[in-house]
Amino acid sequence: MLADVRARIALAAQAAGRDARDVTLVAVTKFRPVAEIAPLIAQDQRVFGENRVQDALEKFPALREMHSDLRVHLIGQLQTNKVRDAVRVFDVIETVDRENLAHALGGEMCKQNRHLPCLIQVNTGEEPQKGGVAPRDLESLYRIATEEAGLKIQGLMCIPPAHEPPEPHFSLLRQLAGGLSLPLLSMGMSADFEAAIRHGATHVRVGSALFGA
Ligand SMILES: *Cc1c(COP(=O)(O)O)cnc(C)c1O
Repeated sequence: MLADVRARIALAAQAAGRDARDVTLVAVTKFRPVAEIAPLIAQDQRVFGENRVQDALEKFPALREMHSDLRVHLIGQLQTNKVRDAVRVFDVIETVDRENLAHALGGEMCKQNRHLPCLIQVNTGEEPQKGGVAPRDLESLYRIATEEAGLKIQGLMCIPPAHEPPEPHFSLLRQLAGGLSLPLLSMGMSADFEAAIRHGATHVRVGSALFGA
């Protein structure tokens, strides 16, 4: 299934006139045990996504003993009381979405001297139950996160509403990133990563297409 997803990414990139090497597959391993992750590592997959700090702590320190080049992205909502562990275990934080979290992360990264690349999650569908900053509040959060909290914000991430066509959301995210000159776009999941690649995704977060539902 990894080979299949890789081939689909390559095709989608080619169709969009893009270099497939500019699209990073983030293998989403939430709810998957180490026994299912190890075969992906054996096939040279190195970038993973987890949505909970605790799950990443349980799985990745051991895997990293054997493969020091693994990169684990946090793709789920982060509570401020977990920033210490999050900064320890993750390599990229994709879900910066509010001021107090930006400040907490900035403080902790200084303390640990681990200045991780971050993305701001944008709630493009403005869904009340979903994490992410509203598009109209993005610029202000970006200023605070970079200038006050000292975070290295490199891009934007979104999870479009489940029952809407995703493309307008991908397009909006790209436009917002362009407005801030941010190079990274984390968008697209199993159901729609090809469309996301057409809209400029640099990171696609794929779970069920790799592992089965
Ligand atoms: C679970 C999850 C994914 C992967 O979803 P699939 O549909 O299984 O590919 C991507 N992004 C986030 C934020 C997730 O929580």
